Amino acid sequence: MKLFDTHAHLLDEAFDADREALIASLPGKGVVHVMECCCDEAGIDRVANLVARVPFLYGSAGVHPHSADEWTSETADHIRAALQRERMLAVGEIGLDYHYDFSPRNVQKDVLDAQLSLAKEQSRPVILHDREAHGDMMDLLRAHKDGLKGIMHCFSGSYETAKECLDLGLFIAFGGALTFKNAVRPIEVVRRLPIDRLLLETDCPYMTPVPFRGQRNDPSLCRLTLEKMAEVRGEDRETLADALYRNALTVYEITE
Ligand SMILES: [Zn+2]
Repeated sequence: MKLFDTHAHLLDEAFDADREALIASLPGKGVVHVMECCCDEAGIDRVANLVARVPFLYGSAGVHPHSADEWTSETADHIRAALQRERMLAVGEIGLDYHYDFSPRNVQKDVLDAQLSLAKEQSRPVILHDREAHGDMMDLLRAHKDGLKGIMHCFSGSYETAKECLDLGLFIAFGGALTFKNAVRPIEVVRRLPIDRLLLETDCPYMTPVPFRGQRNDPSLCRLTLEKMAEVRGEDRETLADALYRNALTVYEITE
């Protein structure tokens, strides 16, 4: 079984003690590719440098809504340059977070708008983060509908919202939260979505699936989310894993 973790943060300090050993162990656990997601400007070169020396890793460049107020007139060029480097494929993670509101909402919207334009200009997929900001998020995505491609990550919305994302051409990714006891809505969405638009992710070190909730998450645990998905959809695990793997290659435009 080949697994592709479409959203990880292996550069998080939670991995400082054993990052190299953990990364080296992943192929042996069936994780053949990981997308390392960038969160802030300082992370852009760190992600590109990590990806450059680990051939099964891919990377994104972008500024998370938490760091939107760090955006400067030079940030867009920094992202453009990183996207020219090896296996740097996507613009992310970008979006809106009205739960924490670490950056003012108007700044979050402007920075998302700028990065959606940049992704279109570079013809790259986006990795989207939406927390309690569905209305403004959908407005901005609709405004950028032409040429939009990418992923709605850690999806927690309703089936209706998921359907809108599909209509915009997006893929929808689920992680450990799907295994939580209160995951009634995501389970309903996973059950109803077409198999060719679903993705597997961890968002590690966060969102650790049951029964390891409370411990550090890592890409090998996306297997538990896959098992839950297969159970919910009544599908064979191997068949689903194969479909999810191919979906990841499709959305990140990777040819093997
Ligand atoms: Zn993330």
